[in-house]
Amino acid sequence: MRRKLVAGNWKMNGSLAANTALLAGLKAGLKVDLQQAACDVAVCVPTPYLAQCQAELTGSSIAWGAQDVSVHEAGAFTGEVAASMLLDFGSAYVIVGHSERRAYHGESSELVAQKTLRALAAGLTPIVCVGETLAEREAGQTELVVGRQIDAVLQVLDASQLQRIVLAYEPVWAIGTGKTATPAMAQEVHATLRARLASKDAAVAAQVKILYGGSMKPENASELLAMPDIDGGLIGGAALKAADFLAIIGAA
Ligand code: PGA
Repeated sequence: MRRKLVAGNWKMNGSLAANTALLAGLKAGLKVDLQQAACDVAVCVPTPYLAQCQAELTGSSIAWGAQDVSVHEAGAFTGEVAASMLLDFGSAYVIVGHSERRAYHGESSELVAQKTLRALAAGLTPIVCVGETLAEREAGQTELVVGRQIDAVLQVLDASQLQRIVLAYEPVWAIGTGKTATPAMAQEVHATLRARLASKDAAVAAQVKILYGGSMKPENASELLAMPDIDGGLIGGAALKAADFLAIIGAA
């Protein structure tokens, strides 16, 4: 019932030449059209490469998007990028609240909620990230932490907006570390998150995709993606190699 989504998060990686090679590899490996494919596929790329994605992915089964968006619509906000600008280059998705933005750029859950709203208002699908640090997990605060993060978003969305988001559970300790949450650990948090969504609207909660992210790779994708509340992946390192990303898509 929930169609899976495998989304690459390239982070601050790539070049025109490297991207062309990677995208060509993905397109060659994904000949089936979107309707027939068993899952949706997207790449979230550094903003300067959105034009390249538009040129090289239009007509393919791969959607694209950005990794952050401004809460502002336009104006004197040096360095910021507006949702309308992402749309100008055909973006379908935007990641909001990635733990690297929360940690290195001081993004609060309230700001993440506002970015989510802005993306929705512009017609983009926000991929809203939540996740606990290792210290928080070890202190038994996982549910508390991700609960607060998701509640800030739920507070500003109505049910029809909630229906249009994608959620991503990304335990910070698993990102880029090679440590993955076990399928059972991830499923437990995903189920908690879905219950939280259900407190807003049960029917909508059943439809919202919840992706897992954090060292997902070909070797562990199948067992993670087999869990009932894991509806896809947000893939960092393994999205930079066509063969690995395709293998994860295959697992989905
Ligand atoms: P990773 O990153 O797959 O390299 O752990 C995931 C993410 O940060 O989205």
